[in-house]
Amino acid sequence: MSREPLRSGETTPPAWAAALPDDLEGRLVFGRPLADLTWLRVGGPAEALYQPASIRDLARFLAALPPEVPVFPIGVGSNLIVRDGGIDGVVIRLGRGFNGIETLPGGRVRAGAAALDAHVARKAADAGIDLTFLRTIPGTIGGAIRMNAGCYGRYIADVFVTATAVTRSGKVVTLRSADLGFSYRQTRLPTDSVIVQAVLAGPAGDPAELHRRMEAQIARRDATQPTKERTAGSTFRNPAGHSSTGAADEDHSRKAWKLIETAGMKGARRGGAMMSTKHANFLVNVGGATAADLEGLGEEVRKRVFETTGTRLEWEIMRVGRPAVAGAAAPAGAQLSGGKAGEASATADDAAEDAAGAAPED
Ligand SMILES: Cc1cc2nc3c(=O)[nH]c(=O)nc-3n(C[C@H](O)[C@H](O)[C@H](O)COP(=O)(O)OP(=O)(O)OC[C@H]3O[C@@H](n4cnc5c(N)ncnc54)[C@H](O)[C@@H]3O)c2cc1C
Repeated sequence: MSREPLRSGETTPPAWAAALPDDLEGRLVFGRPLADLTWLRVGGPAEALYQPASIRDLARFLAALPPEVPVFPIGVGSNLIVRDGGIDGVVIRLGRGFNGIETLPGGRVRAGAAALDAHVARKAADAGIDLTFLRTIPGTIGGAIRMNAGCYGRYIADVFVTATAVTRSGKVVTLRSADLGFSYRQTRLPTDSVIVQAVLAGPAGDPAELHRRMEAQIARRDATQPTKERTAGSTFRNPAGHSSTGAADEDHSRKAWKLIETAGMKGARRGGAMMSTKHANFLVNVGGATAADLEGLGEEVRKRVFETTGTRLEWEIMRVGRPAVAGAAAPAGAQLSGGKAGEASATADDAAEDAAGAAPED
């Protein structure tokens, strides 16, 4: 296993690292800034970042890691605010060994959890399998399952067959739909279980028509949403599960974006954070935002929406990690520019390119 030194001012790895076997095949980095691994480009470092080489390697790593060390998997960070103080414990990021995509008989597709949704949609379309709704969601398959991602009236839950995951104790398990308990933008997967692979199934379609539909979806999103900016998609869930992607979509007055506009918060700013003027439910890093700016503006929006409309908005973006210590120097992650991480198969930049035009539908 390759180990790299701490970069956040410490000189030795945390004590728990001594419990890990020397013959692990993945890559362990201490004090790794996370900002360049997220779409919003904010946040402090992970105490450690592990990139496993294989499912077996991940299982061995987790089995050996002392149980009190927290574990948090990330995809390409398209639904995350990593707080400025960083994340304690180990962040797991799947790379090259986990991004294969294979079409199977019966309209099914097997994909590694690090495969980008857009790649899966395109490969499925080539084989005449309709997973087109995934084309404009910029995350990975692991993140899509965890979040029950969806748009255009279809959700992962609708196409899910089975998934393989590694639990915090290092056990490899097969998950079926009932195990995940899919609901609007969430599942009950434990936050420290890592999905490593999934099988999805879609209806048959003509490949050329499926590709045309995906192009139209991209154009439609580009026209209405800030698709070229640093966002994490929809900031807040639509109240009571109302979604322009779902059947319960008749009550347009209860869309999060509309409530934010009613509260006068469209275009509101805090530091480098802004509620988009193109689509009010998009929180944008317009330049130099900290995680505290973004989260603080989001909380201000929630307060104003409640005061104005009586509705309590719930975050859809996940906020993870510790706030920065008051008076501390700027977090290492916030100093990074948007370069590629190099060590993983898909960075937030890759995902942005691949899902060009992607944005939440509601
Ligand atoms: C421009 C834009 C448009 C978007 N449009 C949509 C949309 O139309 N519909 C929609 O539903 N969402 C949308 N999103 C939100 C986001 O893309 C989805 O939530 C996506 O599924 C997150 O995937 P990710 O790989 O980036 O996960 P991350 O943001 O990295 O993580 C999100 C959650 O998933 C968990 N997770 C990630 N990988 C794994 C894994 N392998 N195993 C276990 N847990 C894991 C993380 O722990 C975290 O809890 C959009 C975001 C952006 C930036």
